[in-house]
Amino acid sequence: MISVIGLDELRAARLSLKGTVGLVPTMGYLHEGHLSLIRRAKAECDHVAVSIFVNPTQFGANEDLSKYPRDLERDLSLIEPLGVDLVWNPTPEIMYPTGYQTWVEVEAMTRPLEGAMRPTHFKGVTTVVAKLFNAIQPHKAYFGQKDAQQVAVIRQMVWDLNFPLEVVVCPTMREADGLAMSSRNKYLEGEDRKAAVVLFQALNAAKEAYQGGERDAEMLRSRMKNVLEAEPRAQIQYVSCADYNTLEELEVIKGKALLSMAVLLGKTRLIDNFVLE
Ligand code: AMP
Repeated sequence: MISVIGLDELRAARLSLKGTVGLVPTMGYLHEGHLSLIRRAKAECDHVAVSIFVNPTQFGANEDLSKYPRDLERDLSLIEPLGVDLVWNPTPEIMYPTGYQTWVEVEAMTRPLEGAMRPTHFKGVTTVVAKLFNAIQPHKAYFGQKDAQQVAVIRQMVWDLNFPLEVVVCPTMREADGLAMSSRNKYLEGEDRKAAVVLFQALNAAKEAYQGGERDAEMLRSRMKNVLEAEPRAQIQYVSCADYNTLEELEVIKGKALLSMAVLLGKTRLIDNFVLE
């Protein structure tokens, strides 16, 4: 496994990889969710590249950039046994040197849901992912369904900008009680950690109703809200039942739909989603 920081080193290392390359972009503090993406890339590509970069431009001014968990040594020790070929761990100065002024922005699809709560978030995500794609030139790029809107936005960007690669979406990995794995779960303590299962429970309640034939989207949103409101520690930011492709809120479910939510538990912000097909 080659681990590089600078762009010149990265280019040299990339040139040494013959055949197909799968890229797994991450912000580090890796868990089983990230590792599942790497395993999938390994199974489908000749080589696997992993980027580890806590991207400052996707954090809002009042968000957790400075305290976002980091442990590069541990991350490297987790991915080396998986057969990763190349790790890129650039600094913020390498990605955004003094004088930097180019941004990639996807429009309508970034406005609802996460975009409504975090108005500058996706501009940072699409810009950094476009830079990763340009620098590493992968054949396939692996993302988690856990960040459903991110997947939709990146797909749109790849289509709009004609990036010659395939976006591969991998299922959400969960803890034994159903909590979606996330680097931010580290912030959850004691009772908040126990209460965090309520997101999974709310999604399941709506899914059961859907499987029972319910197609009224407002009824499904109510089901999720009722479960979340029964947990006094949980503070709802949004609950959504939207079209899977456009992310517009639905009245009636006719095709593929996305149930999603953002919930605060104490100061920790959690998101989760289910796809209804
Ligand atoms: P992050 O380091 O949080 O930016 O995540 C890097 C990639 O891992 C993104 O594509 C995420 O969607 C994905 N990911 C994060 N958590 C999970 C999870 N629990 N299951 C599957 N993929 C995940």
